[in-house]
Amino acid sequence: MRILVTGGAGFIGSAVVRHLIQNTQYEVANLDKLTYAGNLESLVSVSDSPRYRFHLVDICDGAALDAVFAAFKPTAVMHLAAESHVDRSIDGPADFIQTNIVGTYSLLEAVRRYWNALLADEKGSFRFHHISTDEVYGDLDGTDDLFTETTPYAPSSPYSASKAGSDHLVRAWQRTYGLPVLVTNCSNNYGPFHFPEKLIPHMILNAVHGKPLPVYGDGSQIRDWLFVEDHARALVEVVTKGKVGETYNIGGHNEKRNLEVVEIICELLDEFVPVTAEGDRGQTRSYKELITFVQDRPGHDRRYAIDASKIERELGWKPQETFESGIRKTVQWYLDNREWWQRVLSGDYRLGRLGEQV
Ligand code: NAD
Repeated sequence: MRILVTGGAGFIGSAVVRHLIQNTQYEVANLDKLTYAGNLESLVSVSDSPRYRFHLVDICDGAALDAVFAAFKPTAVMHLAAESHVDRSIDGPADFIQTNIVGTYSLLEAVRRYWNALLADEKGSFRFHHISTDEVYGDLDGTDDLFTETTPYAPSSPYSASKAGSDHLVRAWQRTYGLPVLVTNCSNNYGPFHFPEKLIPHMILNAVHGKPLPVYGDGSQIRDWLFVEDHARALVEVVTKGKVGETYNIGGHNEKRNLEVVEIICELLDEFVPVTAEGDRGQTRSYKELITFVQDRPGHDRRYAIDASKIERELGWKPQETFESGIRKTVQWYLDNREWWQRVLSGDYRLGRLGEQV
């Protein structure tokens, strides 16, 4: 296979690219605009592979997309390029509408032009895999309810509304033009190479620096956490074995309250890098003392939880990490990879992005 990954310099996209290069024989083209969230330093372990290439392209640029399709001739597209941070979507929705909706439209049209010109057997085996989020379903009231593939869409934030819009476009391009699409909706991811603005890395890095750990509201919002490498494996299962036209929900069966997540991070840091109170005769202190409660995000969804039984039943995928094992690896990774996040915090990771291969 020759897989074109959009957004391959982002958190999940880079995990997909690393997984494809390290565990398959496929050719991989990473197409990314390198916004603030794109970081080629997340790909150093694979970027020397002769099976990997990078294209600095905005998915809104149809002509540039046509050139990449003509040069790389993908047999599948995995579409992860997006604006992805809910808080940023509240402060400035325009980029979310542009990339997530207009960009997905522009990509679908480029794919359609390319796909229409393929030979019949190539057309039949081609796949367009759209990667989406469980946030399109809104939030859950009951403690036992789960999002299934047929849960009606009810997005709450500009981010989730823009992702919902892109999901509808993808399904319409299948129904109207016959494009062979697959859609996945996944719960919250965490793991190595996560941009420090997101909850888990933000808390780890603030704690390491002795800064307050700001928890929204009372911290009782529930998220269903999935280790990013489990998500990457699931996505590759779907693009290679999934049934055209189907949607697969992906989740980790790891529902946790936000406050619980922050407390677990603090307990791991207490274990890995204990702090001793000055003048306290060596008495250790807990990172939990840094937790503070701040005004809740407007429209904040209370609970997300995924029913992932379809992908488990039909494609045999299961997460390999529990939250306990995955968060332990994640905290350890941030302690062991200071250079990666220090370059993100200083902005140095953005140097050298110009002049990349287009
Ligand atoms: P991310 O913000 O870390 O990465 C997004 C990537 O897309 C970046 O490399 C960025 O440079 C690139 N990009 C942005 N706009 C672009 C454009 N116009 N053209 C080309 N590239 C562009 O996001 P992520 O967390 O890796 O999420 C990837 C996908 O998975 C998104 O579609 C997101 O909605 C979805 N998703 C994320 C989560 C999560 O917990 N992070 C959960 C479920 C689904």
